[in-house]
Amino acid sequence: MNQKKQQGSLEDIPEALRDIPISPPSSSSLNLKWIMLGLAGVIMVVLAILGIMRLVSSPSPTTTVSVEPTPPSTPTPEPETVENILGHLPYEEADPSQLKAITNDGRIKLRKKAADRFLQMQRDARTNGIILTPISGFRTVKEQEYLFFEIKRQRNQDTRKRAEVSAPPKYSEHHTGYAIDIGDGQVPATNLSEKFEQTPAFRWLENNAAKYSFELSFPPNNPQGISYEPWHWRYVGDADSLKTFYEAQQLQNKSSSQENTVN
Ligand SMILES: [Zn+2]
Repeated sequence: MNQKKQQGSLEDIPEALRDIPISPPSSSSLNLKWIMLGLAGVIMVVLAILGIMRLVSSPSPTTTVSVEPTPPSTPTPEPETVENILGHLPYEEADPSQLKAITNDGRIKLRKKAADRFLQMQRDARTNGIILTPISGFRTVKEQEYLFFEIKRQRNQDTRKRAEVSAPPKYSEHHTGYAIDIGDGQVPATNLSEKFEQTPAFRWLENNAAKYSFELSFPPNNPQGISYEPWHWRYVGDADSLKTFYEAQQLQNKSSSQENTVN
């Protein structure tokens, strides 16, 4: 009975009227709201599409732009003459993942094996009162390019003169990560100078470096015709380093036995 009454009382009010008190004022504003939301949605979609189009379209011009300036910006003034520089052999740049720092600041690096042997040699030298200071290790072709051409320019050297004291880019043993320039920590004034051979560090290296598989790359009157570099040592203690240096040397000896007579 009660249920019937309740049902009846609800049914008495027409559905449309039940909603009237709430719906009529809001329905118009709701419509406006929906229109506004719809518009906003359309704008958002359009903006999103524009954004995507920009993202898709913009990288291609910027990449082509960034790719283009790099080749001309690299200053490679006289590549042909460099190819003909006597003595220097071509070397490949070591993979950065193969390198290990030998200084605390991490700036000077060698190939892992060469680095470990150098650090051992440095420790042992120190127990004899000798301070072996690394001056330069691995160098990229880019860095060598700067060293060769920029300093050549500063010193106004011709290419041949410059090549006597510095390897052209792609021709430095330093690219391999096996070569290191060593100084005497107690006589830094002799760094990268022939006078280095008068230092205790050099004498120690002459007597001991071979034990650690380091050898002088450019001794006096070397067959490559490169000026004497008592500070420049290379690691030849594993298959890869031996292959790096001796294969190239044999090739050089075969191909340029006539050229060497010039020196
Ligand atoms: Zn060197």
